[in-house]
Amino acid sequence: MSRLHLHPENHLVTRIGWLRAAVLGANDGIVSTASLIVGVAAATAAQNDVLIAGIAGLVAGAMSMAAGEYVSVSSQSDTEQADLERERKELKDDPEFELAELRDIYVKRGVDQALAQQVAKQLMAKDALMAHARDELGISEVTAARPVQAALTSAATFAIGAALPLLMVVVSPTSLVIPVVSAASLGFLALLGAIGAKAGGANVLRATARVTFWGAMAMALTAGIGAVFGTVV
Ligand SMILES: [Zn+2]
Repeated sequence: MSRLHLHPENHLVTRIGWLRAAVLGANDGIVSTASLIVGVAAATAAQNDVLIAGIAGLVAGAMSMAAGEYVSVSSQSDTEQADLERERKELKDDPEFELAELRDIYVKRGVDQALAQQVAKQLMAKDALMAHARDELGISEVTAARPVQAALTSAATFAIGAALPLLMVVVSPTSLVIPVVSAASLGFLALLGAIGAKAGGANVLRATARVTFWGAMAMALTAGIGAVFGTVV
């Protein structure tokens, strides 16, 4: 609670990052599953087949999101850890050189030589590794990146998004699957787009229009492909 009080901006940024990631995951789930459903339904499959395809799409998409996120977060975390380890060793082996290095960074940013020396010295006295991590490596916060948590979050948000068009298949009459799923999914996308834009401080109308347009394109394309294959097969 007291940390929250001390670093309000910091926490706001992480919260927005989280929300945006969740919105993106749900977006992916809606677009890919709705497109899949519309494509299969356009091939005049039975409602049951449409549902099975949609569920398979949900599972496959969630797994793929989880795997992708796991790999990306782990490798970023590995890189940061390796950088910090190297820095820690350099600080131990040659503190004089590291002090000069940090001083030169500040000089390059416009601080005069004597003051830069003083700043570098004081920062290194407090926390040498952190000072170098921040100003030399550009790692602002030593975060323990959690790849498993990131993977689960991605999979969950994708699955929630994917569940929306699936639910529409269940509640809509067979003959209306395509229009109901398309319209409802575009509605969900627009809503999410608005939430995401609001959280990120972006233009709500533009973000909503963009996400709805691309969602509609994806569905139209797979519906077209489904229709072609449906008549051929
Ligand atoms: Zn250094």
